[in-house]
Amino acid sequence: MSTIQRTYKTELDLNDKQLTACRQHAGAARWAYNWGLARKQEVYRATGKSPSAIDLHRELNALKRTDVPWMYAVSKCAPQEALRNLDTAFAHFFRRAQLPKQGKLCGKVGYPRRKSKKRGLGGFRLTGAIVVFPDAIQLPRLGRLRLKERSYLPTGGVKVPSATVTEQAGHWYVSVLVEQEHVVPENTGPVVGVDLGLKRLATLSDGHVEENPRHLKRRLKKIKRLQRAVSRKVKGSQNRKKAARRLGTQYRNVANQRANTVHQFTSRLAKTKSVVVIEDLNVAGMLKNHHLAQAISDVGWGAFRRQLTYKAAWYGCRVIVADRWEPSSKTCSGCGWVDGDLTLADRTFRCENPARPDCGLVLDRDLNAAINLAKLADSSSDSLNACGEDGSGQRHVALVKPSSMKQEPNAV
Ligand SMILES: [Zn+2]
Repeated sequence: MSTIQRTYKTELDLNDKQLTACRQHAGAARWAYNWGLARKQEVYRATGKSPSAIDLHRELNALKRTDVPWMYAVSKCAPQEALRNLDTAFAHFFRRAQLPKQGKLCGKVGYPRRKSKKRGLGGFRLTGAIVVFPDAIQLPRLGRLRLKERSYLPTGGVKVPSATVTEQAGHWYVSVLVEQEHVVPENTGPVVGVDLGLKRLATLSDGHVEENPRHLKRRLKKIKRLQRAVSRKVKGSQNRKKAARRLGTQYRNVANQRANTVHQFTSRLAKTKSVVVIEDLNVAGMLKNHHLAQAISDVGWGAFRRQLTYKAAWYGCRVIVADRWEPSSKTCSGCGWVDGDLTLADRTFRCENPARPDCGLVLDRDLNAAINLAKLADSSSDSLNACGEDGSGQRHVALVKPSSMKQEPNAV
């Protein structure tokens, strides 16, 4: 028995008064974030030190009396939690800033940006007395808010440390963090290697192929048309706002469908497999490649790995992340020969090992890669002590490269 934290997100059904209050809270959070960002830069320039969220909150409280009295109308949590988010944003920035030095390319370093109302109203997080009912949620200051879906949020005997309210394309959602008692079940499923792809979502080492629904591509035409409609309208006009909202709705639908697909797939893997071996794909780095970017973000690889990791912990599944340089797609899963000439266009792996003419393996490229990944599960058990665990239920395996292998990523 252990306590786990998980979040449930569901849509709110707000009346006009509540809508205004939510907008106000989101506005206060956005204001505090932007103000905090400016203050951090100012103080850093002057003293070389950056004030913490606690320092800033104290300063903001003093400011409320004189400069921003309207902030008394919202829960003090909204600006406070926004300042915490700002601290987190800086922590991520400093962590990512170290990565290029370690030779890990990771796309943009991501200095925290101002939050603009143009990119959506955003949201706010509340802590304190939060009560969940089957058809409503009670939040500090906002009172009892109706939910669109009944009985989705857990009600009996759960602790709710925080709730986050966000706006997306005119719809309001609440994301509830819940602490639950959880028993990790015994997982006796098989070991499986998962090769993530673009044409297919994934190929499993047991031969199962998970097709890619390509939600975005199907809707791309419509989205492009709506994007043109937005840019044709006069800036700041009501018509432009309306067109932007229609575009936002399309994006939201795509995002929801995509999230659903990835959620179903990761749940199934975590529940039915005891060990899942995946590749450590440099997703952020690959997104820089313009041609691949759209296809990749459509598949949602980053989300895949994140979900698989936390769900694995719930269902007693082990996730092994193979080193990025491991040539899983270039190695023969039959005899271990490495085909240095294999290109992206080669969809079939053909073993031409001169030392082992008896092997002659001919296999779908992705399936061959998945089988190689599954094999890492065995070899990893020896090296586990050396590599250890990073506490997130994930284990990283770094294997020695075969000497014939060129120093190039085998990703994609
Ligand atoms: Zn072979």
